[in-house]
Amino acid sequence: MNILVLNSGSSSIKYELFDITNHIVLSKGIVEKVGMKGSFLKVEKQNGEVVKLVGEILDHKIGIEYILGMLVSEKHGVLTSINQINAVGHRVVHGGEEFCGSVYINDEVIKTLEKMTELAPLHNPANLKGIYAMNTLLPGVPQVAVFDTAFHQTMPKKSYMYGIPYALYKKYKIRRYGFHGTSHRYVFSRACEMLNINPIDKKIISCHLGNGASVAAIKNGVSVDTSMGFTPVEGLIMGTRTGDLDIGAVNYIMNKEEISGDTISTLVNKFSGMLGITGISSDMREIETAANEGHERAKLGLDMYAYRVKKYIGSYAAAMGGLDVLIFTGGIGENSVSMRKLICEELEFLGISLDDSNNNVRGKETDISKADARVRVLVIPTDEELVIAQDTEEIVKNLN
Ligand code: AMP
Repeated sequence: MNILVLNSGSSSIKYELFDITNHIVLSKGIVEKVGMKGSFLKVEKQNGEVVKLVGEILDHKIGIEYILGMLVSEKHGVLTSINQINAVGHRVVHGGEEFCGSVYINDEVIKTLEKMTELAPLHNPANLKGIYAMNTLLPGVPQVAVFDTAFHQTMPKKSYMYGIPYALYKKYKIRRYGFHGTSHRYVFSRACEMLNINPIDKKIISCHLGNGASVAAIKNGVSVDTSMGFTPVEGLIMGTRTGDLDIGAVNYIMNKEEISGDTISTLVNKFSGMLGITGISSDMREIETAANEGHERAKLGLDMYAYRVKKYIGSYAAAMGGLDVLIFTGGIGENSVSMRKLICEELEFLGISLDDSNNNVRGKETDISKADARVRVLVIPTDEELVIAQDTEEIVKNLN
């Protein structure tokens, strides 16, 4: 079964085409700068060759037409006809309280998603554009939505409610949802496979540390807490997002700088976090390089980043009453040897103890803890696209 996985963002469309039966990625790439000058499709072929096709990609439908055209092109294609695409899986950021798992997309699901765009105005409208385009371009081909929030729908009320008037939760569904669910779900289940353990009775913390970052507490195989909240701005310090911030400080900044709600939202989402602290970049590699060269604010940024992750690990171990497995994933979690070390320092009291030579690894599934440590610490490269393809296969197989 060939499954096309789409991740439609506001100005980009990532795709991956799977032959899911044989677990092979046939083609993957990205359309960038949709609706802007200089838009292009970049494809990474199986042999490592990268092909770039520049064009006037005015909207998501045209972007997907480029992708489909490339998939069947004589020179770079992998299919003889687009009819060989059996199903499409879409990453959808927000599933609200309505979706606690992946779903087959029918008219009713589309209507519900349209009603929910207010919850994720930056993401869900773009995800919907991909769904609309596919309805037109591949009519009759089943489509499936896989939600970033779904994995966290198992959180108990005490962890997802905010201390605000209950009426506001009832009226507007203001609560913590959590994101990166597909990634946390993938690495958590890989961890159980790697260690050959049953998740029941196990207490697992997964740290997805990328440009966006979140920690999830997984007990008995389900998410019981996570650091992102109503929006992805809560929790850890991220590339450009503040993470946890006193609302009093937000009000104070708005008054002093005389800025609106929209502007403060841009400030906390796009100009804060590691970029705001260091003044250098949101990119961890550049910050680490600067810190090694003695840049004081880069060093401060790294310390703050690690400290916040450490605090979440401690609080989730307390919330679950213990810890068996700690997982690092995402660009930083998978690759930054020094950040993992900084985070795990002085956590021996929890049973966390890194083996420095095992920790010297990048982008490879590895147990980086000492052999006799109580907690297994694992590096697991995430693969959200694979999860989307697998969920799509499962749902489509059971359609009839
Ligand atoms: P992601 O959003 O998962 O793609 O992760 C992006 C982040 O991973 C960026 O901050 C990168 O700087 C960081 N990253 C990627 N490779 C490395 C590396 N070798 N060392 C440190 N950080 C890295």
